[in-house]
Order: sequence, then structure tokens, then C-alpha cells
Amino acid sequence: MIKTTHCKNFNHGRILVHIQYCPNCGERFNVKTDIKHCTDITHNEKRKLRDCFCCDCGTTLTPLKK
Ligand SMILES: [Zn+2]
Ligand SMILES: [Zn+2]
Repeated sequence: MIKTTHCKNFNHGRILVHIQYCPNCGERFNVKTDIKHCTDITHNEKRKLRDCFCCDCGTTLTPLKK
């Protein structure tokens, strides 16, 4: 069953997902990988990729101000 979602992230249509959370909408995927413990450094790297949510821990990433 593929859940319909407003989110356009390609991971929603996949059966095997290698990330914990959708970086676009923050929805949790059903994966059984270990939850990573992120640091500010890894979150800053994700902010540079314009992710809205951390795909490892689900934290909301506030955009960097220019
Ligand atoms: Zn999503
Ligand atoms: Zn994180």
C-alpha cells in the first residue's frame, strides 16, 4: 500500500527507504535502521541542502539566514 501524500519527495513512493524521516515534510518512514544522533554540524550540512527536516532524527531545520 502506497500512501498518498501531498509531499513530492520521491522516498514516499519507495518500499525501501534508507532514511528515517522525509527531509521535505518530516514524516517518519517505516524503516528499522538505528536512529542517528545528529550534531549541529550535520544539521548545518543538511540546511545547506535546503532540507526542511533532518532525515536522520526528524528535527525541524530552520533555514540559514543570509
Ligand atoms: Zn515527505
Ligand atoms: Zn538530525
